[in-house]
Amino acid sequence: MNKTPHILIIGSGLGGLICGYILSREGFKVTILEKHHKFGGNLQTFRRNAVEFDTGMHYVGSLDKGQVLHKFFNYFRLLGKVKYRRLDENGFDRIFIKNKEYPYAMGYDNFVETAAEYFPGKYDTLKTYAEKIRQVAQGIDPYNLREVDMSQIFDVYSLSENAFSYIKALTSDQKLQNYLSALNILYAGERDKTSMYVHALINNHYIESAYRFVDGSRQVADAFVENIENNGGEAFKNSEVTKFIFDDDKKIKAVETRSGELFHADFFVSNMHPYNTIKLLSPGMVRKAYRERLQRLPDTISSFAIYAVVKDKAMEYLNSNYYSHKDNDVWAAGIYDKARFPQYFGLYPLADGIDEKYTRGFSVMTYMDYDDVKRWENTTVENRGDDYEAFKEERAQKLLYFVETRFPGIRNKIKAYYTSTPLTLRDYTGTRRGSIFGIMRDCNNSYESYIFPRTKVPNLCLTGQNLNLHGMLGVSISALLTCGEFVGINYLIRKINEEYAVIE
Ligand SMILES: Cc1cc2nc3c(=O)[nH]c(=O)nc-3n(C[C@H](O)[C@H](O)[C@H](O)COP(=O)(O)OP(=O)(O)OC[C@H]3O[C@@H](n4cnc5c(N)ncnc54)[C@H](O)[C@@H]3O)c2cc1C
Repeated sequence: MNKTPHILIIGSGLGGLICGYILSREGFKVTILEKHHKFGGNLQTFRRNAVEFDTGMHYVGSLDKGQVLHKFFNYFRLLGKVKYRRLDENGFDRIFIKNKEYPYAMGYDNFVETAAEYFPGKYDTLKTYAEKIRQVAQGIDPYNLREVDMSQIFDVYSLSENAFSYIKALTSDQKLQNYLSALNILYAGERDKTSMYVHALINNHYIESAYRFVDGSRQVADAFVENIENNGGEAFKNSEVTKFIFDDDKKIKAVETRSGELFHADFFVSNMHPYNTIKLLSPGMVRKAYRERLQRLPDTISSFAIYAVVKDKAMEYLNSNYYSHKDNDVWAAGIYDKARFPQYFGLYPLADGIDEKYTRGFSVMTYMDYDDVKRWENTTVENRGDDYEAFKEERAQKLLYFVETRFPGIRNKIKAYYTSTPLTLRDYTGTRRGSIFGIMRDCNNSYESYIFPRTKVPNLCLTGQNLNLHGMLGVSISALLTCGEFVGINYLIRKINEEYAVIE
């Protein structure tokens, strides 16, 4: 009798959970080991004053019926289990440019028509832009759940085309350039590096439709763990993998956790940062050039965040996200300058299952470089010392001051607030230097920063945001590619579409 193949997944971030779900459905025995005391990586939430705060998943896109994330959620058995709310159709995101607020509207026609009201005479330019990003996003097969030719998985041209150069060539109107580039903080955009591929995929994702989880993104992690367990899989917290154990054929036969426990399996999938994974391999196991490439690839910047509990009924529920840049040029935030902290903010009101009329909490995010907190890097959560607390308070006041310029009186509405720094991100998700979105993509060297799931170790694959793209959609695609290594990518794509056809 054939033994059920056993897959061990290191890390329960979105990537690890999706792989765990797909592979457990496909008949593999799945074990997930998570180093933290909660599952989910960036899907984690935390509760303060009875308010549930998201940490790394404020909103998702393409979730209307028939759109790609809706198809994924159907296949993942998340529909009906996870609560979410559609954001304001006429302004899911609202951007302040030179003290004026500009909405991003949902749906391509709505997006173009709404924006044209703010940029008179630019209807055709906006239409050309919308067609361009739609064409780029729809040209990439796996993002549209079309069968994939693995030798042509990426759209070479859009990987190398620079997003800012395209926008600059499209219009000389600087305000419009800023408007079209304003969501660059959703991918830690850098003027000289960000490709049209990244820009178009993220913008298209949200323009198609934008949703916020009600009571936080932890539900997604909880639902995945439950679904994996229903498929016969198992998931363990507080289980940090610290070592691979090899057999004589240079295949991994087990992992060892920090507590010294051994877990044997036939195959291994790592949801850790690829470089952290490779660091656990002895020198001869992967090519030197590959190891050096992973080491030198820069990560995206980290962040500082405020999680604010709002006084009872002090603030009506806001069904949009808000962005404001300090500079008149929205790409300036991509060059971090601590003297100018905060260079932008993103404000995300929480969708609350208890109260739909009032906002009970919101979070505010801005960039922060790891070096700003490096002097505390050898400390642990809640034991970083009074000087660290003072540093956080000083930064929080600066950020709140900036937010107040756009939302006068907002500080008086706050009952209590909590903060996080790059060290918090590092310690809760295991990312290098608390990077927000993992490896930085650079259109000047487009292939260098894209990482394939398969490694030179015959039974080790990678998954997660570092492979291809971050975010709910990017990580879902990466996980699909990873699972494709075991069961065939086109088989999975067909299955997702077939299951969706039944509910359509
Ligand atoms: C502040 C912030 C805001 C964001 N906002 C959004 C948003 O609004 N919408 C959106 O779509 N995306 C957003 N993202 C991006 C999104 O959260 C991530 O791209 C995605 O969750 C990453 O998933 P992952 O599986 O790649 O990795 P992670 O979430 O980083 O998970 C990796 C997991 O591996 C575990 N691990 C690491 N090392 C080990 C080890 N040795 N042993 C065992 N376990 C280990 C970690 O503890 C962690 O649980 C945001 C990210 C951040 C940081």
